[in-house]
Amino acid sequence: MNFFSTNKQSVKASFREAVLNGQPPDKGLYFPEKIPVLSADFWRDFKRKTKEQIAFEVIKSYVGDEISEEILFEICSETVNFDFPLVKITENIATLELFYGATLAFKDIGARFMSRCLQYFSRETSEKTIVIVATSGDTGGAVANGFYNVDGVEVVILYPQGKVSRVQELQLTTLGENISAFEVKGTFDDCQTLAKTALADEDLKRKVFLTSANSINVARWLPQQFYYFYALQQWQDDKNAPVISVPSGNFGNICAGILAHVSGLPVAKFIAATNANDVIPRFLQSGKIETKSSVSTLSNAMDVGNPSNFVRILEIFDNDFLNLKEKLEAVSVSDETTARTMRDVFEQYNYILDPHGAVGFYGLQKHLEKNPAQKGFFLETAHPVKFDSVKNIVGTFGAIPKAVENLFSREKQSVEIEADYGDLKKILLEKI
Ligand SMILES: *Cc1c(COP(=O)(O)O)cnc(C)c1O
Repeated sequence: MNFFSTNKQSVKASFREAVLNGQPPDKGLYFPEKIPVLSADFWRDFKRKTKEQIAFEVIKSYVGDEISEEILFEICSETVNFDFPLVKITENIATLELFYGATLAFKDIGARFMSRCLQYFSRETSEKTIVIVATSGDTGGAVANGFYNVDGVEVVILYPQGKVSRVQELQLTTLGENISAFEVKGTFDDCQTLAKTALADEDLKRKVFLTSANSINVARWLPQQFYYFYALQQWQDDKNAPVISVPSGNFGNICAGILAHVSGLPVAKFIAATNANDVIPRFLQSGKIETKSSVSTLSNAMDVGNPSNFVRILEIFDNDFLNLKEKLEAVSVSDETTARTMRDVFEQYNYILDPHGAVGFYGLQKHLEKNPAQKGFFLETAHPVKFDSVKNIVGTFGAIPKAVENLFSREKQSVEIEADYGDLKKILLEKI
């Protein structure tokens, strides 16, 4: 399969090139030339298929022959080696729990898949590969874990000092080996600027293969389709397709769901649930995209003022606004409503939502009030224990997962740096 750029100014890339480049030179996003349609064979024994089989069959047309089937199957198995339960909360609302991976968030899936593709594609080069990533919390941990002990790849993580939660920081800083964490005296934007400056540094690029692992990479985006299929395997109502609500920031996750739907997955409607960063809800009302600087909210992994993956959603619908509105609704949820939803759902149903999941729950609940014949589920994108606010709002984190208990006994290893590219470059050069 070839991938074209949504800006249409770059040459087409193979899967391998798209993974290695991350972004096309014209700064668009890679998009598959043809969205595959799953065969009748695929659906015949769908409910009996294993997670590995589904992952493999969904992704193989995108990868083509650039990774052998045997190795691709192995990569898929390693990517989905944990549970994806669909859990009923109310009569018409269920949650797809995506927090059983290494860092307790859905980003584990994309990060694991990408790390293994990158390892495979860089096996023939003698050059060292450095993956640099700026994070406001969840991405860094998922990427660090995904690439942990992957041969020939060094990972450099930049995070803003004092601005990630305790669990997130431990996930970033306690691995060691090929993972280095840098605590930047500045904001997330400073971290992102440092990473972008490094990625554009021609001098550095002559010495090392430098790449990013951000969410626009096709190897992070495409595998996010898998768990939508796992949810449908567990969906009990064969006559009525579900409404799916996705807490959204950069819109990569929901875009993967829509892609799965176009490939044949039955879905009644998608709901993009955002926090106060409401560019897309406003777009669906006005037809105009007006980006804004992001504002800080309780669901901070979704504090995005200019959702980069949305152009892929437009591409799926061929830029047809009316078609898009048929399938996609969007809602913006305030922090006050998010916190109230967390308290209410705990009191009424004894279920602990994290702030991102709460945004998804509320978006779905509002939709179902207006459409009482429908049922649906929302994506619980991370475990509540990752967000310190949960304790303040709900009063408890609930049961603490084993993986987190183990973290607390480990030692943080990080290097403090100023938000200064000169300092960072010196450190990167020492790694070569
Ligand atoms: C990244 C993230 C999101 C947003 O996902 P997008 O693909 O950027 O829309 C939602 N919830 C959590 C917990 C996240 O880490």
